[in-house]
Amino acid sequence: METTIWNTPVAYLKSVGPKRAEVLATDLEISTFDDLLHYFPKKYVDRSRVTPIRDLRDGDLATIIGKLGRMDWVQSLKSPRLTTTIRDATGFVELTWFQAVKHVGSKFKEGDEVVCFGRITSFRDRLQITHPELEPLSDDPAESLSIMPFYGTTEKMKRLFMDSRGLRRTMKQLLEHADKIPEILPASVIHERGLMSRAEAFKNIHFPTSFQHLYEARRRLKFEELFFFELLMAKRKAIFARTRPAPPFVKVGDVFNEFYHKHLPFPLTNAQKRVVREIRNDLAKSVQMNRLVQGDVGSGKTMVALLSMLLAVDNGYQAAMMAPTEILAEQHYVNLSRYLEPLNIRLALVAGSQTKKQRQSAVYGLAAGITHIAVGTHALVEDSVEFFKLGLTIIDEQHKFGVRQRAALWLKGKDLLPHNMMMTATPIPRTLAMTLYGDADVSIIDELPPGRKPVKTEVYAESQRLTVIGFVKKQIAAGRQVYVVYPLVAESSKLDLLAAEQGYEAWQRALPDVPIGIVHGKMKPDAKDFEMKRFKEGATKILVSTTVIEVGVDVPNATVMVIENSERFGLSQLHQLRGRVGRGGEQSFCLLMSSKNVSQEAKKRLEAMCLTNDGFYISQIDLEIRGPGDFLGTRQSGLPDFRIADVTQDGDVIQEAKQSAFALIDADPGLTLDAHRPCAEYLHHYIQKFKLEELSA
Ligand code: ADP
Ligand code: MG
Repeated sequence: METTIWNTPVAYLKSVGPKRAEVLATDLEISTFDDLLHYFPKKYVDRSRVTPIRDLRDGDLATIIGKLGRMDWVQSLKSPRLTTTIRDATGFVELTWFQAVKHVGSKFKEGDEVVCFGRITSFRDRLQITHPELEPLSDDPAESLSIMPFYGTTEKMKRLFMDSRGLRRTMKQLLEHADKIPEILPASVIHERGLMSRAEAFKNIHFPTSFQHLYEARRRLKFEELFFFELLMAKRKAIFARTRPAPPFVKVGDVFNEFYHKHLPFPLTNAQKRVVREIRNDLAKSVQMNRLVQGDVGSGKTMVALLSMLLAVDNGYQAAMMAPTEILAEQHYVNLSRYLEPLNIRLALVAGSQTKKQRQSAVYGLAAGITHIAVGTHALVEDSVEFFKLGLTIIDEQHKFGVRQRAALWLKGKDLLPHNMMMTATPIPRTLAMTLYGDADVSIIDELPPGRKPVKTEVYAESQRLTVIGFVKKQIAAGRQVYVVYPLVAESSKLDLLAAEQGYEAWQRALPDVPIGIVHGKMKPDAKDFEMKRFKEGATKILVSTTVIEVGVDVPNATVMVIENSERFGLSQLHQLRGRVGRGGEQSFCLLMSSKNVSQEAKKRLEAMCLTNDGFYISQIDLEIRGPGDFLGTRQSGLPDFRIADVTQDGDVIQEAKQSAFALIDADPGLTLDAHRPCAEYLHHYIQKFKLEELSA
C-alpha cells in the first residue's frame, strides 16, 4: 500500500509519544495510526440517560450527575482505600476505590460536579459503586452526555494514564484526520449494499452520534472485513480455474452403473441420493469441484465418497481418499475392498504402518496407472507417492487436517487440478462453513439410514458405578459389545484421572468372565490393529480405549459407549464418541461418567449431550461455548482473526460479503479496472498483514 498518513507510527500523536507507543505496541500490538483506528471500543454507554439517584436499584448500570462529597482516605494495613459520595437533588451514593487511589484522589476534590458511571450495589439499604468512572462535568458537557465508548486497557497502560479515558482522548486526536480515511470498497458495492462510507464508519464506531449510526458503522466494518477474506477466496478460485483445468467427468459409465444397479449393499437414503447428484453435477464440469460434505456421524458419507470415486474411474481417472488415522484408513480400505469385490477395480492402501514391500507395490500401481483408487493416511502426500492421472481427491474428517495438508493432495494431480471433496462429521455451523470455505460449496446429508434409533444418553456419578457395571453386564449377556473411553493414557499424578490402563484392570476385576481388549495411542500400530480386529470380530466384548477410536470406527454390534471423566472432553469430541454406537438396529446407550465437581461449562456440555443427538445443534452449542478460534484452532483452519465480524452470528453479512466478492472477481478477475484499484491495493496489504499468502496461492 502506498505510504499514507495511516502508516504513521502512533508515537507521532500528541497524546501518545514514545513511551506510551512502546506500551501500545507490546500490550495491544498497536503500532500505526491504522492499527489504532482498528482498536474498537469494547462497549458503549448511553450517557444521555441520566438516572436520578432515588430511582436507582441494586445491579443497575447507571449514569449519575451530581456533586462529590468529602474525599476520605482510609488507611488499612493491606491497601489504602478512598471513599466519597455523589449527591444529587434526590439522594446520595457512596463511591469507593481500592485501586488507582492516588490518581483519583489527585484529580477530584469535594464539591466537584461530575458525571459518574458504574454498577450500583446496595448494602444495608445504602447505595454504593465500587470503582466508578468519574469525569468532570465541565470538560465538555455535550460529550459527557453522549454515547461514550469504553476501551479495553492493561495495567501498564493505566499506569501511563492510557486508561479508557486516555484512549478516548487519543482516538479524538486520531479522528481529526478522518477525512483522510480512504474508501477501499468499490462504489458499486457500497451502493448495492447500502453501506456507510469508510470514514463515517470509523468515526461512528469510536464516537457514535446515535445508536442507529453505531449499528450502520458496525455493519459496514463487518462487511469490509468479511469482503476481503472472501475476495481472497474468489480470487484463488478464479486463478485455479484459469491456470489448471479440472477434468470433466462427463460419462456415467459401466463401473458406476454396474455397482449402482447391481451391487449397492443397501438403498441410498434420499439425502445420500441428493448429495451424489450434487457431486455428479460438479464433476461434469471442467472447473474444479470444491465441495464440503457435512453429515452427522453414521449418515453414510463413505458410500457417497465411493460413488464419486467410481465416476472418476469411469472417466479414466484415479481417485484418492485420505483419512486422519491408520485405523480409519484401514477400515475404509477393508470396506471399499469388500464393496468393490464384484467389480474389476484395483484399490491400494497407503499408510505409515505398511511394510516396505507393501508400500512399494502400492506406489508402483498408482504411478503406473494400474491401480484405480488409493486409500490412505497423510502418507499419501509423501513425495514418493505419484499418480498416473489423479482426478478426484477426498479428504475424510477434513477438520483433522490443516490447510496445507489438504492442498498438498491436490498437487498430486500435476498439471491437472483434481476435483476435491471434503467430508466432515463435525458439522461446522452454516455461517462458519460459509466463511471458512468461502470458495467451497456445501452439501448436507441431513438424514440417517433407516432403522437407526437415537442413542439414549445419561450422566452417571461415580457413586452409581455399580449400576453402570450391572447394565454393561446385561448388554453383553444379550450379545452386544461395549466401548469404554478414557481421556488420557500416561497418567500424570497431578491430574486426578483414571488412566485407560488402570481402568482396563478395574473393568477386568468387575467383570472377570468377560474378554476385554485395550487400545491406546502409545501402542504399536500392529498391536492396535490386532486389538481392533478382535473387537470387530466379537472376540472381545469390551474395548477400553483412549480417544483413538474417536473418528469413523464402525462396529454395528457395539451398543454401549461408556465415557469416563466425561467432563474432560470437548462437546464435539463427546458427540463423535457417541457416534461409535447406534450404528445397528438395536437401541444404543451413551453413559457419561462424571465427577461431582465439574465446571459450569462442563455441565453445559453434558446437558447438551443428554438433550439431543443432532450434530448440527451440538456443534452450534460447542461453537458458542468455545468461540470460533478454539473450535477450529484458528491457525490450522487458515481463518484470520476477525476483529469485528462474528462468524457465529453474522450469517447475513457473510452471505452478502461473499456474493459481492465473488461477483466482483467474476466481472474483473485481476481487479485491474480503475474503479477497483483501491480495493486491489488494500487486498495486497490485507494478505501481508494477516499472513494469508498460503490462501492466496
Ligand atoms: P459416516 O458418515 O459417519 O462416515 P459411514 O459411511 O461409516 O458413516 O456409515 C455408517 C454405517 O451406515 C455403515 O455401517 C454403513 O454401511 C451404513 N450405511 C450407510 N448408508 C446406508 C444406507 N443408505 N442404508 C443403510 N445403511 C447405510
Ligand atoms: Mg466416516
